[in-house]
Amino acid sequence: MAATVIDGKAFAARVRGQVATHVAALKADHGITPGLAVVLVGEDPASQVYVKSKGKMTLEVGMKSVEHKLDAGTAEADLLALIHQLNTDPEIHGILVQLPLPGHLDEDLVINSIDPAKDVDGFHISNVGLLGTGQDSMVPCTPLGCLMMLRDHHGSLSGMDAVVIGRSNIVGKPMAQLLLGDSCTVTIAHSRTKDLADVVRRADIVVAAVGRPQMVPGDWIKPGATVIDVGINRIDKPEGGTRLVGDVDYDSCAAVAGAITPVPGGVGPMTIACLLANTVTACCRANGLPAPEGLTV
Ligand code: NAD
Repeated sequence: MAATVIDGKAFAARVRGQVATHVAALKADHGITPGLAVVLVGEDPASQVYVKSKGKMTLEVGMKSVEHKLDAGTAEADLLALIHQLNTDPEIHGILVQLPLPGHLDEDLVINSIDPAKDVDGFHISNVGLLGTGQDSMVPCTPLGCLMMLRDHHGSLSGMDAVVIGRSNIVGKPMAQLLLGDSCTVTIAHSRTKDLADVVRRADIVVAAVGRPQMVPGDWIKPGATVIDVGINRIDKPEGGTRLVGDVDYDSCAAVAGAITPVPGGVGPMTIACLLANTVTACCRANGLPAPEGLTV
């Protein structure tokens, strides 16, 4: 039987709708408008596209959007001063510094200078620790989006075998923590894993976050498993031009899986939706209000 296609585009539209509802209620009931500040250093074309689309969607859900575009040669002290200013600005509830930063800037230092309560990317070391110990935290957007789709599809994930391929700080490791938090038995596979095919074949849930086009073939997938493809890779088309593919070979995996996310239109749209969700969560917490149900873990 063909796999159920998990439509991340439609899901993300629903999440943005929920965010917009909460934003409207915060305005009407408390006179508060959640604000998101995005800081972009330099002119990386992909980052410029992401920042533009984040700003547009932030406004669409009724939030305040602030963009700070800094020169590629910006001194670290100037960037830290801007972050300090945003940390203390009561109208800003979320701060995102677009990565990667130019090489002369210390990414860890910059990220860890963001107020953890406003760290809507969830990369601050305090949020990493809070997530790892099962406490309220800001959860990295991409893994949060994956978890939302998994919960929506399965209901409970308790007792399922999950394999996360990739151990990055932004996707693989927090994804594994979230799955553990939902009582999965979790394996993190990576570039040094022996017999990756065997490891993946045991999984009821496979999350691929590698950055290698179509590297997971269908014969690695346990029949009926759920496949979440985080990868975004641009490859050449035989007829010329390029197209986006994920880290799994979609056609062969979809023939065996029970459910699968497509690329594009799967995990990608959920990432920005979760950024908006995190901003509302941060705004509620900053104002002593409960975080909106369903928009965080
Ligand atoms: P990364 O390069 O930081 O990490 C890749 C991981 O893959 C590493 O931990 C490495 O050990 C592992 N790996 C590399 N080769 C491997 C192999 N042959 N076998 C098994 N594991 C291997 O990448 P990242 O930032 O985690 O991103 C991964 C992918 O997800 C990329 O394609 C990226 O573009 C995509 N991504 C998508 C979104 C989204 O919103 N959809 C967000 C973030 C990242």
